[in-house]
Amino acid sequence: MKHILLFGPPGAGKGTQAKLLVEKYKFMHLSTGDMLRDEIKRSTETGLKAKAIIDSGQLVPDEIVAEMVRLRIKNIKDNTGIIFDGFPRTIAQARNLDEIMNAENQEIAMMIAIDVNDDEIIKRILERGKISQRSDDQDINTIRNRIDTYNRQTAILADYYKQQEKFKFVDGIGTIEDIFKEICKLVEE
Ligand code: AMP
Repeated sequence: MKHILLFGPPGAGKGTQAKLLVEKYKFMHLSTGDMLRDEIKRSTETGLKAKAIIDSGQLVPDEIVAEMVRLRIKNIKDNTGIIFDGFPRTIAQARNLDEIMNAENQEIAMMIAIDVNDDEIIKRILERGKISQRSDDQDINTIRNRIDTYNRQTAILADYYKQQEKFKFVDGIGTIEDIFKEICKLVEE
């Protein structure tokens, strides 16, 4: 099975598209944001450390996130494909992921980037914040920091996967269904 990285700025629609991919192809959905929110809800040590960082719009330390991912995909079955949503977010995490996948005798098939401009992202995140109850979706300063963090630390990952000829992208402006169709074409290539 293929392992796919969904990539793009916060609010690009990665979570929405990941859920549709899981429904259609039975992928396992691995969202580090969801995992961290779950740690916060359970008031674990990781959750307590992560809360303030997430609310400031910064990134949780690479070691913490990489360890969560390593544990989650340890001994995965050969027929399980994974959709990575929101991971990796730094070059160090991409290297961690390579090590984790090598240890499992697996490899990343492709990165699919969802391309959306900053104005649209801010609009979408504020809209989502009204229903998601996510504190980091409700504060305009946090949202701006998240976009800034993405531009400074995460966007460069596109080059990392371009060098490996694994980079693909879709236009993220349009209906959820149309964007999903484009993503499915890439997945089925
Ligand atoms: P997300 O749900 O993917 O938008 O993530 C929400 C927040 O969780 C991010 O703004 C980060 O603070 C944190 N987070 C999620 N994934 C990662 C990651 N791979 N590395 C570091 N921090 C992360």
